[in-house]
Amino acid sequence: MPFPGDFRLSAKTPPPLMGSRHCDENIPLLFMLQAWYAIIGIKVFIIAIHKGVAMEEQIREIINRLTLQEKASLCSGEDFWHTKGIDRVGLPSVMLTDGPHGLRKQKQSKDFSGGSYEATCFPTASCLASSWDRDLLRQVGEALGEECLQEDVGVLLGPGANIKRSPLCGRNFEYFSEDPFLSGELAGALIQGVQSKGVGTSLKHFAVNNQESNRMTIDAFVDERAMREIYLAGFERAVKKANPRTVMCAYNRVNGTYASQSHLLLTRILREEWGYDGVVVSDWGAVSDRVAALKAGLDLEMPGVFRENDQVIVDAVRSGELDESVLDEAVARLVKLILQYKANRADGYRFDREAHHQLAIKAACEGAVLLKNEDGILPLKKRARIALIGEFAKHPRYQGAGSSLVNPWRLDNAYDQAMKLPNHSDIIYARGYDILSDEPDRQLIDEACNAARTADVAVILAGLTDDYESEGFDRTHMRMPPAHNLLIEEVARANPNVVVVLCNGAPVEMPWIKSAKAVLELYLSGQGGGTALWRLLYGEANPCGKLAETFPEKLEDCPSTAWFPMGPKGVEYRESIYVGYRFFDKADVKPLFPFGHGLSYTTFEYSDLVLEPEKMDENGTLNIRFKIRNTGTRAGKEIVQVYVRDVESAIFRPVKELKEFAKVSLEPGEEKEVRFQLEKRAFAFYDTQSKGWRVETGEFEILVGASSRDIRLSGRVWIEAGDGMDPSAWDKRSLLPSYYDPKPGCDIPKHEFDVLYGKPVVHPPLHRKGTFNPDSTISEIRQVSAGRIFYRILMRAAKKMNREMDEKTLRMMMKSIEEIPLRQLAQNTGGRIGRNMIDGLILLCNGKWLKGLAKMILR
Ligand code: BGC
Repeated sequence: MPFPGDFRLSAKTPPPLMGSRHCDENIPLLFMLQAWYAIIGIKVFIIAIHKGVAMEEQIREIINRLTLQEKASLCSGEDFWHTKGIDRVGLPSVMLTDGPHGLRKQKQSKDFSGGSYEATCFPTASCLASSWDRDLLRQVGEALGEECLQEDVGVLLGPGANIKRSPLCGRNFEYFSEDPFLSGELAGALIQGVQSKGVGTSLKHFAVNNQESNRMTIDAFVDERAMREIYLAGFERAVKKANPRTVMCAYNRVNGTYASQSHLLLTRILREEWGYDGVVVSDWGAVSDRVAALKAGLDLEMPGVFRENDQVIVDAVRSGELDESVLDEAVARLVKLILQYKANRADGYRFDREAHHQLAIKAACEGAVLLKNEDGILPLKKRARIALIGEFAKHPRYQGAGSSLVNPWRLDNAYDQAMKLPNHSDIIYARGYDILSDEPDRQLIDEACNAARTADVAVILAGLTDDYESEGFDRTHMRMPPAHNLLIEEVARANPNVVVVLCNGAPVEMPWIKSAKAVLELYLSGQGGGTALWRLLYGEANPCGKLAETFPEKLEDCPSTAWFPMGPKGVEYRESIYVGYRFFDKADVKPLFPFGHGLSYTTFEYSDLVLEPEKMDENGTLNIRFKIRNTGTRAGKEIVQVYVRDVESAIFRPVKELKEFAKVSLEPGEEKEVRFQLEKRAFAFYDTQSKGWRVETGEFEILVGASSRDIRLSGRVWIEAGDGMDPSAWDKRSLLPSYYDPKPGCDIPKHEFDVLYGKPVVHPPLHRKGTFNPDSTISEIRQVSAGRIFYRILMRAAKKMNREMDEKTLRMMMKSIEEIPLRQLAQNTGGRIGRNMIDGLILLCNGKWLKGLAKMILR
């Protein structure tokens, strides 16, 4: 079966490989070549099977030699980053560490202390995703794999394939897209790259982890169709395409069950439906009930601070609560992971730093999106006098905060790189704002305006400062700091030739958009961003990125705004399948910049769309081909996008959905033919009644575009569904009017969501005195005096313990401390707070003072 995502390009007049006159003479040669390839293919196949069988045997043999205790011990980590090793049977311990856009290998075993080893900081996922470039993602993956080899890391914790449900999610910079097809394709490519070096990956956070607020305990209520079509589809694609060695479960609950304990997610869907045969690892501290998690399909609990859980597993087997075969299956998967690591260790391996830096620059160029370019102000003229404005030029914002924080071995900033340009004497710098303050600084703004007045063009670097985006908390609005907004407006009054360069991990509102002639979205561009910027501005690199997410004009336009973030115990996904452009199209809301948008310094023309066949049954393959020509004077790359629209359907559907894309490189005047193939899944929706992917008989429109709102070619195909199902069974128009006709503002009433969800959504109650348990959060126990006292002690200790922690990480930690469930205290304090202490605290908070104190003292 052709892989969705495989597309073929052919130049307009390909040079003939072989003249027809010579064909006959070459038949014996061709035949021999084919036979030769066939023999090699069969050999490779036999060796692979042989290796597989040998590995299976080796795993069985190891398991037979392990004691029950040892098997249980393999199911949790040795420390924060390693699995346990068992020398007796030749199993080394394996390091798993972050991820995803660079290696964060801590120098000390405790998280976030002592800093991490130097590594290459590639652009974060938002930027990588805007490249829409599978090859590039694969190359970045290969480089990450090489860095893991050097540092003896067995599994890199990434990529993250969660959907960007709202622009506010604090961790969006670590995720690819609002669209599951794009997300899954790119995650798959990155995984393939890393794993081609023999290093494992961890596709995370599975699943429905789309807000940081209360992420450790929140219950995400999402209807089955949205779950399948939006929130799981990207994971499914990545798993099927690239088979990551591990999948990391999310912290949150999904429809009532912790992801770490969801048999539906971890076994029925992931393993049985998608055929996944790798390890499932918990997010760090995501396990609530160890035995329930193991039964659900979670193999490895990380980190490994709570040794008690090994004994819990042993006891469960002994008491008959847990079938030993379930444990054996988990251990078999873990042993395989360990053996894969062992077979691939490369002592003394050194990656090529300079080559990785160049790749980081290339990735930053490919991921930058030219959002606006009035009067062709870009590329800059070589002789233009430039005012370079904004403190980001000297202190770049190039990555986000949290577990993905990389310690880059080199960091190019825009100012230093500018000073290396041949025309550096034509570039003057003004600070414009203070990165540590949101408030406008009159003096800095005046200086910037003065600089702009003396220049031909003002290039302003602005966006979001470190305070705004991080793992552990969400943004509360979509605005940029007032200091940046005012600076842009005032500089534009001093000199209308303003180019705004945005450094941010997620969309921002742009009240100044009319005052800027050009806007270049650089995103968080990694350690090479400063160099990439000048290549893009001067046209050495032609911008070719496109948005992998919608940029709304204002936050209220986003479909999830009324329910994002929600909490403290539950979050409703009332907008269902209408995420990103699926909503903006359906409700006819004009975005500031649509999904898939991005300009170039050249222009492209699309033509000659051919769809074959015109009519097919649902199991057929639709062949699509069209031509694309570079009609400008510069070489450039165009990201061509194929959307599918179900022209008329009984079930509610988005106006269109992305089903294919390719990045096509074209010299001036060059034309290429692009080909795609679409199969059933591209036309299907998830039918919750029959629990499968269904197509409704009828006409489908194939839309070929330069963005979701810039469709250049279209054609129609008739598809006949196989099973003759009566579509009226899917028609819920009278029950779900808001889903058939969503309005701007996306005000979907609760009763409609309940119908879609299948039952009334009831948020779990807040834990109160008498009901506190290990899943209760610090903020919940603060309702009682014992909890408040504990909280104060904890905050003081946290500040003291983490004195040497970098500011960004400390901020994240302090902000998220209240949301930590009590069971996680052991992990978060490196074991200083043990199980008895936590149990004692819970008793105290439940009003059982004597028992609680006794538990704590006698620990
Ligand atoms: C994050 C994961 C990360 C892990 C280890 C968790 O808090 O959610 O993405 O891989 O920590 O640092």
